[in-house]
Amino acid sequence: MIGTGHGIGQHGIESMATVMESSYSIDASENLIWLKVWGEVTAESLIELLNRTRADAQYVPGMDIVADYREAYGSWDYSEIQRFRDYIVHIAVPCEVRWAAVLKPGNLAAAGHVLILISEAVGADIKMRMFEETHSALRWVRGEDRAKATMHTFLNGRVEVRTGDITSLRVDAVVNAANSTLLGGSGVDGAIHRRGGKQILEACRELRETCYPRGLPPGEAVLTTGGNLPARYVIHTVGPVWGRDQHPEALLASCYKKSIMLAANHSLGSVAFPAISTGAYGYPKDEAAAVASCAIAQALAQADAIERVSLVFFSEADRDVFLAHQQF
Ligand code: ADP
Repeated sequence: MIGTGHGIGQHGIESMATVMESSYSIDASENLIWLKVWGEVTAESLIELLNRTRADAQYVPGMDIVADYREAYGSWDYSEIQRFRDYIVHIAVPCEVRWAAVLKPGNLAAAGHVLILISEAVGADIKMRMFEETHSALRWVRGEDRAKATMHTFLNGRVEVRTGDITSLRVDAVVNAANSTLLGGSGVDGAIHRRGGKQILEACRELRETCYPRGLPPGEAVLTTGGNLPARYVIHTVGPVWGRDQHPEALLASCYKKSIMLAANHSLGSVAFPAISTGAYGYPKDEAAAVASCAIAQALAQADAIERVSLVFFSEADRDVFLAHQQF
């Protein structure tokens, strides 16, 4: 890894006209930091540059970075690598961040060793990759490669299949794989209540006290506020428990249909579903794919107002099972 901050040490005797300073710029609209690193780089100088960036009013934790090291040089020993990775671990935030290093082709091998060691230390939170020019680096941090690889649509684009965390979607309604109590649980349910805050729980309590004193039956769906979620509303539906509830297929289909009808009745245009019943409730994922896709297709045929149904899978493996068994 290569480059220097403004402290140029022994190189300072060179005329200031020829010594460029490392610099940064922040593009808030892209959630992106550009670093331009010049001259000899040390862990200290890089940390200093990042600290300057983090002190900027426009800086937000979790921004992606494109760092251009093509005018920089230097080699790091293990203690230097360790210092830098300790710093990165210290500033890491618990979400995926992409850091692209743009390097001269000849420097790739040496820098690669450093990047690998640092990547291992920060685990999945910071993804690092090397590029030879800024264009492909930018495409990668923007996730354009990811978008292309994971975008699958059906029914003329009304249904999209994607991976991710359903609680982060900015849609009109996210569907919760709830349990009959409506008072929270594990999996999607836990994640929605955690991120959505107490307003959702209060709304659920009220439903229990008024309409559903004995709990929401499997196959039914109800609507509450989205609380602090980016989504406006949550639709809670209770899937069948595999091996316990009779007619699991009809109940699972009903979850999808009633959720879509409920959204349509409230003039909501976009709805995101998790793979209902396929977690703790044990519904086989391949069978659930066929049932869910048929039910969604039938419901959408009668719900013109719904423009977009997103099917959100936690893992690429789950998404691929769905894609292999769906019957759109
Ligand atoms: P159920 O009790 O209906 O089986 P779960 O919440 O246990 O519901 O799991 C349903 C599916 O949702 C599982 O495939 C699980 O991997 C997935 N899942 C869990 N959390 C999330 C999340 N935050 N976003 C999207 N999918 C999730």
